[in-house]
Amino acid sequence: MPRVTLVLECVECKARNYTITKNKREHPGRVEVKKFCPRCKKHLPHRETR
Ligand SMILES: [Zn+2]
Repeated sequence: MPRVTLVLECVECKARNYTITKNKREHPGRVEVKKFCPRCKKHLPHRETR
């Protein structure tokens, strides 16, 4: 199983708030997840870094 660990950063303030694992075969592209950013104090899209 090609699982990779990703760091998600807030698209607005670039804070690195979450780490997730994903299956590279199921999600070959960049993932974007809507999550709560404690710095912006609201829900914002978080994108994987690198
Ligand atoms: Zn933020």
